[in-house]
Amino acid sequence: MTGTSASTTVEWQVLDDAGAGRDLEVIAADMRGVAGVDGLVLTMRDITDRNQLDAELRRQALHDGLTSLPNRALFLDRVGHALSRGHRDGHSVGVLFMDLDDFKLVNDSLGHAGGDELLIAVAARLTTMIRPGDTVARFGGDEFALLVEDVDVASTINQVADRVQEAFQEPLSVGDSHVLARFSIGIAVGGSDTHNPDDLLRDADAAMYVAKRSGKARHVLFEPAMHEESQRRLAIAGELRGAIDRNELVVFYQAIVDVHSGRTQGAEALVRWNHPHRGLLQPDDFIPMSERNGVVIPLGQWVLAEACSQVQQWKRAELVDEAFYIAVNLSARHLQDSHVVAHVVEALERSELSPAALVLELTETALLEDLDRTRSTLAALKDLGIRLAVDDFGTGYSSLSYLSAFPVDVIKIDKSFIDQLALTSGGEAMVRAVVELVHALGLVAVAEGVEERDQAAALEHIGCKLAQGFLFAKPMAASEMTKALAPLPASTP
Ligand code: C2E
Ligand code: MG
Ligand code: MG
Repeated sequence: MTGTSASTTVEWQVLDDAGAGRDLEVIAADMRGVAGVDGLVLTMRDITDRNQLDAELRRQALHDGLTSLPNRALFLDRVGHALSRGHRDGHSVGVLFMDLDDFKLVNDSLGHAGGDELLIAVAARLTTMIRPGDTVARFGGDEFALLVEDVDVASTINQVADRVQEAFQEPLSVGDSHVLARFSIGIAVGGSDTHNPDDLLRDADAAMYVAKRSGKARHVLFEPAMHEESQRRLAIAGELRGAIDRNELVVFYQAIVDVHSGRTQGAEALVRWNHPHRGLLQPDDFIPMSERNGVVIPLGQWVLAEACSQVQQWKRAELVDEAFYIAVNLSARHLQDSHVVAHVVEALERSELSPAALVLELTETALLEDLDRTRSTLAALKDLGIRLAVDDFGTGYSSLSYLSAFPVDVIKIDKSFIDQLALTSGGEAMVRAVVELVHALGLVAVAEGVEERDQAAALEHIGCKLAQGFLFAKPMAASEMTKALAPLPASTP
């Protein structure tokens, strides 16, 4: 064949015999100039299957496989379009970054299938709440996001967040269980000066982080200071690894006292970071990040070694008696770390401290993280002869019934309970009930965060023997603590 041809391709939707739609690709070629053809040629192909496959691939690329909600890529695309529309007609665009609280606990207790079922139920409930035109997405894990178009005033978006939180007051059913799913929500609103969807999402994420840190199950509106804050945290986390080697960490000690006599019975080791530029950093400034990036493992190992050797020095100098103990905090990450038992053995051997003088503190949520693994780690730790404490009791699952399942010795009652003491009669009844249960289980109760004399008096009345708090002593550097520990009276022959 010689000559030239020009062609156009179109798609036709036609009905087949059964009345189902089929896609036809029609190529029309003008072959009038082609010798031997000399006419218009139409070629038709049924491309229904190909189109369906394309659509499915596109859907998969833009949706979450588990919940079928839009994924991050599609969400960002929609935010981008919403921003452009907003620029034209003067509306703002709101983004809610929503992270389920304590999802890991659900996953561990219900199994992965149960966790998946919960995520599907969450997605379904979110979908029923949104207005047409708004988008709800899942970013993976327990992260969801909501795009709210046409936000006129900041209060609109707060109302949306309120609605989400109200909708999740009702438990969801997962198998035979009813599970309460709650969100920490970060909100960001983008207006005429926001052009990048990523920026809006990053702001909402930073606000979500603040919501988590301020106690979860709440929503927080982004402020520019939060971005600086998250940048600062990232920078700090990056520097922490080196800080251990550069000897920038310090252990402070806070006395644990007998409420009745006021005598020091032990101390808690609380880490600080003497940062070369940022000053003395508190654990809240770097522990959460170190848990995320794993640096909490070498950090904990260092604190443990340092605290054990310090206490052994006090014992040798007879500044404290035989019964004096040191409490060291461990993170959830430590319980999942196969070396934790070896690290404890090493710290005890190097310092020659008796295992009876060491208490390891763990939070309730850390205990519940991976039940089987936790149980075997705790059993191995207990075999060394050390004791275990539940820290911040009352802030996590707040169930004393499960405590009998763990080989714990000490329960530290969280400051939030102690704050209620001597304030309300209900508060006192609550602490009394907890202390009585702790005693009934044969465990020791320690009150945390005692600041007022009235609180100490109430504790004594209730029968809680040990306490810790600013009323008795603040955390202090080892040298200060050495001074504070009055020398024991020399035994006269
Ligand atoms: P925590 O183990 O519950 O420690 C008690 C916290 O309450 C300490 O805060 C202490 O300074 C503070 N506190 C004590 N008495 C009072 C009081 O009367 N009033 C008030 N308002 N606060 C009081 P800090 O030192 O900032 O430590 C915070 C948390 O950081 C600790 O809570 C612990 O969970 C964690 N942490 C500290 N050191 C370490 C460590 O070496 N490793 C790990 N993994 N976590 C640590
Ligand atoms: Mg503690
Ligand atoms: Mg505590």
